[in-house]
Amino acid sequence: MIIAIDGPSGAGKSTLGRMIARELSLLYIDTGAMYRAAALAVIGSGVSTVDQQAVAEVVTRADINLEGDPDSLQVMLDGRDVSQDIRTEEVSHSASVISTIPEVRRTLVQRQRKLGERAGGVVLDGRDIGTIVFPQADVKFFLTAAPEERAHRRYDEDRLKERNATLEETLADINKRDRRDSTRGDSPLAIAEDAIVIDSTEFSIEEVFEQMLKAIRERK
Ligand code: C5P
Repeated sequence: MIIAIDGPSGAGKSTLGRMIARELSLLYIDTGAMYRAAALAVIGSGVSTVDQQAVAEVVTRADINLEGDPDSLQVMLDGRDVSQDIRTEEVSHSASVISTIPEVRRTLVQRQRKLGERAGGVVLDGRDIGTIVFPQADVKFFLTAAPEERAHRRYDEDRLKERNATLEETLADINKRDRRDSTRGDSPLAIAEDAIVIDSTEFSIEEVFEQMLKAIRERK
């Protein structure tokens, strides 16, 4: 059983991905966390994100792993737990930049397929899961919400973590990342033909969770 969840930033993919994985006892793979860990490796190496060849080499050498169950997923880079370090603004920005490099995508997509195939069943969230990584996924979701709503959710989360970006800055960041993710040449954010599209602007997480579970049970 392979469940793909794609969509723009802040649409609730990772929260819902974890909830679904927990409910159905599946492995959960946060592919955004893999791009973030790759970005952290690039930042640590001192290589410029403009030097695509050098970036690709750093990412190929980086040992990126996801460990643990959905609720306590640990993101490992070269044996070090970087789960917290990958959530900074700098890493978000760099991840979005390096994810436009085809060679970087090839490396990470290959690892995602390996992780997914090894498991008995898996939920993956990202931007290209239903279109590129697992086009044969059993159920595909495309989660979205109005940019203002996504910015609000991200802003509320950030405030809890005492980060101090304003709502306007958060919205500008979301719009910038959406644009980069949707317009890149290699595997842009797109809705798979057979995806179930859920716009969560007007729904709570619990309501979306119920809709998704219902769709999965129907497909089964
Ligand atoms: O989902 P998250 O915000 O953690 O992802 C960080 C960045 O990684 C995204 O802005 C996107 O550019 C990139 N990404 C991607 N393909 C994926 C997952 C994430 O390009 N499957």
